[in-house]
Amino acid sequence: MKYWNPYLETLPRKELDRIEFSYFKSILSYAKAHSLLYREKLKDITPNDMKTFDDIKKIPLTDKEELRRYQDIDPYPYGGILGVDIQEVTTFRQTSGTTGKPVYVPETYESWQWRIEAWCHILYMAGFRPHHRVFLPFGYNVYVAFWEAHYASEKLGCELIPGGALDTKGRIHKIIETRANAMMNTPTYGLHIAGEAKNMDINPKSLGIERMLCAGEPMPEATRKRLEDLFGCHVFDHIGGTEPCGWGGMCEEKQGLHIIEPFFLVEILDRETLSRDVEEGETGVVVVTPLGRRSFPLIRFNTKDLVVKGKDSCLCGRTSKKIKEVVGRTDDLRKIRGVLFSPKTVEELIRNEFQEIVEYEIVVERKGMMDDITIRTEVAPDFSGKEIDQVKVRLRENLKVKTNLSFHVQMEPPGSLPRYTLKAKRFKDMREIEKK
Ligand SMILES: [Zn+2]
Repeated sequence: MKYWNPYLETLPRKELDRIEFSYFKSILSYAKAHSLLYREKLKDITPNDMKTFDDIKKIPLTDKEELRRYQDIDPYPYGGILGVDIQEVTTFRQTSGTTGKPVYVPETYESWQWRIEAWCHILYMAGFRPHHRVFLPFGYNVYVAFWEAHYASEKLGCELIPGGALDTKGRIHKIIETRANAMMNTPTYGLHIAGEAKNMDINPKSLGIERMLCAGEPMPEATRKRLEDLFGCHVFDHIGGTEPCGWGGMCEEKQGLHIIEPFFLVEILDRETLSRDVEEGETGVVVVTPLGRRSFPLIRFNTKDLVVKGKDSCLCGRTSKKIKEVVGRTDDLRKIRGVLFSPKTVEELIRNEFQEIVEYEIVVERKGMMDDITIRTEVAPDFSGKEIDQVKVRLRENLKVKTNLSFHVQMEPPGSLPRYTLKAKRFKDMREIEKK
C-alpha cells in the first residue's frame, strides 16, 4: 500500500480545510477551558466567533518564553500549560534547553498515541515498512524525537534496534551484527558514522542501510545527496520539534516536505509582520497548532523555523500542503555588515562543491566598527600545499558569490576543528558574546 492512511492522505483540499478548521475551533475552546495559559491569553477571544481562516490571524501567537513563564507555577513541573489533570500524565519529556531553561512536556497516554500516529505518517511516507530493521544510534534520554521514532517504527511493524550506550564504533559493529537496513539520525551523525566507518576500513555502503530518515537540523539538499552517495541509500528529511511534535515529512518524490494534515494546522507567515501567509516560493516563519493534543494544548506556536512555501500538489498523490525547503531558524539568521546571512548557504556550498573539505567553522567578530567573518577549514589529509592553496582561492570566490560577503579563509591542520556527533555548531557569532 502506498499510504499509511489512504483516506486522510488523499482527501480533497476543501475537505481537509473543513476538517482542520473544525478541529482548530475545538482545540481552541478546549485550551481556553483547561489551560491557565490560554484562559488568560484568550480572554478576549470567543472560539465560536471564528468563521474563516482569516479570523484565526486575530489570535496572538504563543512563544517558548511564555511556556517557560507559565511553568513557574503549580502543579510542578508543568504549571499553567497543562491541559489535563496531572494524574492523567503518563510520560515526561522536555526540550533540550540549548536556548535557555528547558520546557517540560506532559503527555497522557492518549496524547502520546496521537504523536506516534502523526509520526507513522512521516515514517511510512519515507518508505519505512515491516521488512525494515531500524537502527536508532542514540540514547533517547528525556528528549522526544527518538522515542517518537521508536514507537512509530514498532506501530508500523518495523523491527527496532535501540543503539544507545555505545560509541560510534560499537554502533557500526551493531549495525553489521544485526544486519540493520534502516536508520534514523541527525545529518551530522550520519556523516560522522560514514567517516568513522571509513577509518575502520569499512565502506559505509557495505553496511547495507537502505533507508535513512534525518532529523534535528536543517539538511541542505547537497547534504542529503551526500548521505545518499556515502551510504548508497535513500535519505529523507522531516521537520518538527518537542513542543509542536513532528509536523512535516518527505515523501518518496523527495521534493520538499508534506505537512502532516489534518494533525496540524501549519501557517507560514511573512517574517516581518507575522501576520500574512506567504505565497508559494516565498520564505516565512512556521506557526503550528497541533490539532489533537489535550495534555499540552498549543495554539499558534511560533516555531521560529524558516521555510520556503511549496506547491500544494505532489506526484505521490497526497493532497496535503507542502514546504519546498527548510531554510533554518530565525535565530540562525544574522545581519553581517548589513547583509542577511544564513549559515545553511555555506553548508550547501561546501557539501556540493568542496568534497575535499572535511570540517569547517564560521566565526563572526566585531573588529572596530566592522564585522569580520572568517571560515576555518580542514581539508582531507591527502591534499598537499598547492592543492590546498587552490581550494582556499576557490572557496573565497564562491563564498563571495553565494553570500555577498568577503570571508577570510583560514586553513587548519587535520583533526584540529571540533567534530560533532549529534547537532553541529559550526557557526559562532562572537559579537553576541562580546556584548554580554
Ligand atoms: Zn509527495
